[in-house]
Amino acid sequence: MGKVALIGAGPGDPALITYHGLRALQNADIIFYDRLLNPILLYLAPEDAKLVYVGKAPEHHAYTQSEIQEKLISATKKYDNVVRLKGGDPGIFGRVEEEVQALAKHGIEYAVYPGITSASGVSVYAGFAITERHVSEKVFLATPTAQLQEFAQEPLAQLSAGGTIVLYMGMEKLVAVVKIMLTQGASESLPVTVVEWGSWGRQKKVVATLATIHETVEKAGLHNPALIFIGPVAAKAATKSWFEELPRFGQKTILVSEKKLTFDELLTYTDQGADLYPVFVGAAFDERFISLHQRLLLPLLKEEYEIIYQGKNAPALFQDFLKEIKGGQNGR
Ligand code: SAH
Repeated sequence: MGKVALIGAGPGDPALITYHGLRALQNADIIFYDRLLNPILLYLAPEDAKLVYVGKAPEHHAYTQSEIQEKLISATKKYDNVVRLKGGDPGIFGRVEEEVQALAKHGIEYAVYPGITSASGVSVYAGFAITERHVSEKVFLATPTAQLQEFAQEPLAQLSAGGTIVLYMGMEKLVAVVKIMLTQGASESLPVTVVEWGSWGRQKKVVATLATIHETVEKAGLHNPALIFIGPVAAKAATKSWFEELPRFGQKTILVSEKKLTFDELLTYTDQGADLYPVFVGAAFDERFISLHQRLLLPLLKEEYEIIYQGKNAPALFQDFLKEIKGGQNGR
């Protein structure tokens, strides 16, 4: 019977994976990965490893939690090294305990390797830390998705004075949370920062106050995945961060290569802040990425992007490849 490694991928920048995570991916026979995962991490997998998407989109659940658990369990009957790759830290709003319990119940050996949770990773990539001596000496990580009435009982105004509130999965409840905090007596001028796709090259952020954050977010068109930071340190995001200063920051880049590139080679782009999407064509083409390309590359082609070709036949091969994946979209 195989064993399962549940690993955290970090918030987006693929190089934020831990060493444990890296080794687990390199040894994997099968990888079950989530929706918010940077696909570049999958290029760490051995060429014969199976890649299985088990993403849950907010609007429609591709797989339920129990279906994912069943898949993990049945995979251990066939494969030695099963990897469950989750966004951020599996132990923070990652439902890891449910997956672990299901494995334990079946006597399956497992390990859980943490990742960098978005609260700490995204904040520093946006230019501030969630704790700061004498400014923010406590942090409250929460998700207001469940019972708002219960959430209103938390001393939010108090927590945000001399502390930082970080809300996961909170965008739909932003207006309600602001209202609760103002009712509790928080200042209208309390800084609030929202960061979308933090630590990805496509990172966007707005800095406002309790009074203006809703309007500011609407105007900037920020959506999930996004984190809401409330408290004095949030104001520090007002200037460009070290990450936002990188030479390729914000550049959506499709890299089309005739030759397979290694994980480290791909990182040379993300290390400069690029929002990189790799596509290997021709002899380097990898079947396992077809559904990923359909889900992520096709929408990207409707946006503004830069394309980099490697190999003289890459442009023509890319056109053939696009025809194939577009054609396959309905059929497959
Ligand atoms: N286990 C994850 C959280 C999963 S819940 C972690 O430790 O980070 C999913 C929520 O996390 C999203 O709705 C969003 O609020 C937040 N999130 C994850 N990645 C993010 C990113 N790159 N930028 C902003 N928010 C992110």
